[in-house]
Amino acid sequence: MAGFADALDDARIALMTLADRATGLTNPTLRLGVTGLSRAGKTIFTTALVHALTQSSRLPVFEAAQAGRIAHARLEPQPDDAVPRFAYEAHMETLEKARAWPESTTRVSELRIALRYATPRGALRNLTLDLVDYPGEWLLDLPLLDMSYAEFSRQSLALARAPARAAVAGPYLAAVAANKAETVADEGRAREVASQFTAYLAACRTETLAMSLLPPGRFLMPGDLEGSPALTFAPLDLPADGATRPGSLGAMMERRFEAYKSAVVRPFFRNHFARLDRQIVLVDILSALNAGPAALADLERALDGILAAFRTGQNTLISTLFRPRVEKVLFAATKADHLHRSSHDRLEAILAKLVERARLRARESGAALDVVALAAIRATREARVRRNGHDMDAIVGTPEKGQMAGGHVFDGEEEVAVFPGDLPQDPDSLFDPAGTGFRGLASDDPDAADFRFLRFRPPAGIGESRPIPHIRLDRTLQFLIGDRLV
Ligand code: GDP
Repeated sequence: MAGFADALDDARIALMTLADRATGLTNPTLRLGVTGLSRAGKTIFTTALVHALTQSSRLPVFEAAQAGRIAHARLEPQPDDAVPRFAYEAHMETLEKARAWPESTTRVSELRIALRYATPRGALRNLTLDLVDYPGEWLLDLPLLDMSYAEFSRQSLALARAPARAAVAGPYLAAVAANKAETVADEGRAREVASQFTAYLAACRTETLAMSLLPPGRFLMPGDLEGSPALTFAPLDLPADGATRPGSLGAMMERRFEAYKSAVVRPFFRNHFARLDRQIVLVDILSALNAGPAALADLERALDGILAAFRTGQNTLISTLFRPRVEKVLFAATKADHLHRSSHDRLEAILAKLVERARLRARESGAALDVVALAAIRATREARVRRNGHDMDAIVGTPEKGQMAGGHVFDGEEEVAVFPGDLPQDPDSLFDPAGTGFRGLASDDPDAADFRFLRFRPPAGIGESRPIPHIRLDRTLQFLIGDRLV
């Protein structure tokens, strides 16, 4: 139940939203959310987007840029003083000078770009673009708002006991067994279970498991809450009726779970999410495909949760004033440069299938949805390489220092040609329970499993590139903001 303070907060946000809209009449502003689970590619995408817009890059499918109608695009002070600024300059420096990937997103950040452009008829106009980069894990917390601690415990423990997670859930499940909900509340016990739970969630996220659905989001992405007591809770085995006894460990956990919802989840939703106009959701499908069917199924459930978030808040009176106004959502499969061009459309088709299935289940709200296979920064180039007497499509890149494949450790300088294999032509084959399932990206090759997980360094010479090499960044921009530049 939302309390009085929540209602006041809701009213404040509703007023802010109305104010946003009023200013929008004279100085149109578009708030674009960039989200996705950790390492999906948010930081790289946001950096590449800002670079493309502010450096007058030629971007064929992004019509306003291609036609030379963007007079200027400048970084300006952001509207919300309390939110950290997206560290665009530092990220560019890391990419250029160190030829390394910058630090990933761990909390919400903002950046404002003021665009001046000419309409196709030649009239000069302004558009303010506010970018809001935030962890997708936080979005997956929204379903928790409607959940009791008992339901949360039941669902989380069912997931932890599923075969796909069994290999990493052991220590956490042992901690649950050793710390019964009815024992006397104790900070040491709470901390022990919570830390085992956090370690288990982190282990689910590693490359070989690549699980996606791991709430509560702040356990993996604590933002400013690192080490805070708000995160010292965990699901426990509760009696069938879900009741906790006053003074027990279960009751202590339940109270903290409720505090997490009201002090962390609700404010994020109201202050950031509900104010977005458009949204790009970055999805690292390739990692899920590489890790296998269980990771793919998990990713599907996470997409369900993300789509459901776009409907949240429509049920109460006050929320009709500020309900998520997201009118366009683009799902983007990132790191498409790990595949040969011939597979980009197939990657898009797989994502489209995933989103369509989730949309049907979520009975989603009617925002315009689209999908794209994207590499915000292209780290590879394509080549034909002769192998076993055949010419084959390969991608060539420089693996990061310390990366290993086929027993070889890369030094960060040498290039390697990888045969990424083809994605299935028919995306249904991935989902059909009677089908063969997905067998991997290059399953004929015994070393392929290693190569599939290789991380490449960013390309050299980013400083001089306009645009930075990419795949379909222009199409992405056209969908997200093209119609606002006419
Ligand atoms: P975030 O956690 O969503 O902010 O993820 P990042 O944007 O930091 O990306 C995580 C990692 O994915 C990076 O360090 C890169 O290794 C890789 N990555 C992201 N985008 C791309 C891309 O367009 N191409 C390639 N090759 N790798 C990418």
